[in-house]
Amino acid sequence: MSNIEPSHQSSFSIHGIGVSSGIAIGQAHLVSNALLEVVHYQLPPHLINEEVTRFDNAILTVKKDLEVIRSSLSKNAPAELAAFISTHLSMLADKSLSEVPKEIIRKEHCNAEWAIKQQMDDIVDQFEAIEDEYLRERKHDVVQVVERVIKVLLGHPRQAPNLTKEKQQQENAIILVAHDISPADAIQFKQHHFAAFITDVGGVTSHTAILARSLNIPSIVALQRARDLINDGELIIVDGSLGVVIVNPSKEILAEYKLRQDQWSLEQQKLKRIKSTKAVTMDGTTIDLYANIEVPEDVEAVKASGATGIGLYRTEFLFMNKREMPDEEEQFQAYKQVAEAMHGLPVTIRTLDLGADKQMNPDSVSDCANPALGLRAVRLCLSEPQIFHTQLRALLRASHYGNIKILIPMLSTLSELRQTKLLLERAKISLSKQNVPFNESIALGGMIEVPAAAINAEAFAKELDFLSIGTNDLIQYTLAIDRTDDAVAHLYNPLHPSVLKLISMTIKAGAKLGKSVAVCGEMAGDAKLTKLLIGMGLRQLSMHPSNLLSVKQQILHSQTAKLISNARKVLNHTDLEKIEPLVAKFNLQ
Ligand code: PEP
Ligand code: MG
Repeated sequence: MSNIEPSHQSSFSIHGIGVSSGIAIGQAHLVSNALLEVVHYQLPPHLINEEVTRFDNAILTVKKDLEVIRSSLSKNAPAELAAFISTHLSMLADKSLSEVPKEIIRKEHCNAEWAIKQQMDDIVDQFEAIEDEYLRERKHDVVQVVERVIKVLLGHPRQAPNLTKEKQQQENAIILVAHDISPADAIQFKQHHFAAFITDVGGVTSHTAILARSLNIPSIVALQRARDLINDGELIIVDGSLGVVIVNPSKEILAEYKLRQDQWSLEQQKLKRIKSTKAVTMDGTTIDLYANIEVPEDVEAVKASGATGIGLYRTEFLFMNKREMPDEEEQFQAYKQVAEAMHGLPVTIRTLDLGADKQMNPDSVSDCANPALGLRAVRLCLSEPQIFHTQLRALLRASHYGNIKILIPMLSTLSELRQTKLLLERAKISLSKQNVPFNESIALGGMIEVPAAAINAEAFAKELDFLSIGTNDLIQYTLAIDRTDDAVAHLYNPLHPSVLKLISMTIKAGAKLGKSVAVCGEMAGDAKLTKLLIGMGLRQLSMHPSNLLSVKQQILHSQTAKLISNARKVLNHTDLEKIEPLVAKFNLQ
């Protein structure tokens, strides 16, 4: 990072919520929201020809950009991506986008951005009237292409996938500054190596934040106006641990942070020494430390972390940014790849949890009033049995190649579980008829992430092989706090006594029926909560690989007997204000 020099512009800091620790120093790269920035202005007649040329040049620039992206796609890039870019190129070449806006400029004497935006709105309206769902959804492609053109017209730097080769080489020193990033956008960033990631909105356990954590780079959300206050190319420091961004730091601050950055890397290096050490407390309790993954490529990080299994594979990311749903074969290959790479270690694969903030496409917005309470996860799968059947068949086929377990998200009633079991049976029968091998006794687990399921955990434990507590949603639904909304992020607290009670009830239900209980929500990866969770009786934690070693360090310094008595004291409290200091005090013991 030798190119980083302090700036002479005035320095200031912005505060948000740190969602992934560490320190990054680099140049701001503004991810724009160009469509919102288009204004309308009139031009005098003598400037019309110039405006038309400006428009033509923008189209040409986008064409060249798209061609560069297509030719520089890595071999591992999903096949759809090239097709996707080709579609965008043909849309760009179509008269409706390359010619009609010029007629609008000439006729209405308006600026080019406004003209193409008007034309886009017209085309989108036409698409919306189409009955065929697939064709109707193509409106998103039109919007994306137009957004690219508008960005060029507005003189914005282009989006992440548009970076030039030269800029890509410097990605390590680039910090993404966005108003918001959808999980579908964020998953694409996995191909890049940015230094950090900051957004104006978002909550600690929003899926965007979870993905940011899985990129293992410092990230801050809920900065409110970062995109307005920071200029492209400005030098910024991101302190993910404190949730602070320093813009244009002075020489002294920069030197101080470079020192802190070195210390942080040193600590991370030291943690690596316990990678192969078994996660056992000082009095001999073994804890299974598993990893959460989003895409098969994450297995590399799982191995580097020393995890002894995968406790949550969020398969919905396989469905994002695709023109079509992945078919059985594509899903099978992805699941098999993970199962084989883990060489017999457990791989818990969760069935599709689409809906709420996880949409297939960055531009899809759910039109129901409360998407988190709507048709998501297992509810969606049961309402689309063909999609579910395809996934269950793919999972069963992959079970022949490793130690796969199936996990069902968002269960709230036993009838959902029973319907799922029927569909699983049906998938097994169809494979048997075709003589396709699979693991007949594949384990089936359920996520406990809706209070109704936690309260009724015993009944679920009776009919399942294992339980996994999804604390992200359990907290959201118990406390009635939207996990993606920064306005209520301060109320989102895993230590709330009601949340702890529900976790405790689930652990007891599992223990009573001899079924294993894991936590796979973000609580599992928070080292400040490790001692409490072990004390409450958990013996399996699944988290992002980047958190695993700091959690293991806590375990290695613990006495289970002491943790149990401490946890009992915590659970006896009904007041959050008493619980927080108590947990902090017990962590120091
Ligand atoms: C959870 O809700 O805790 C969980 C692990 O699932 P997700 O974060 O994918 O909703
Ligand atoms: Mg969940």
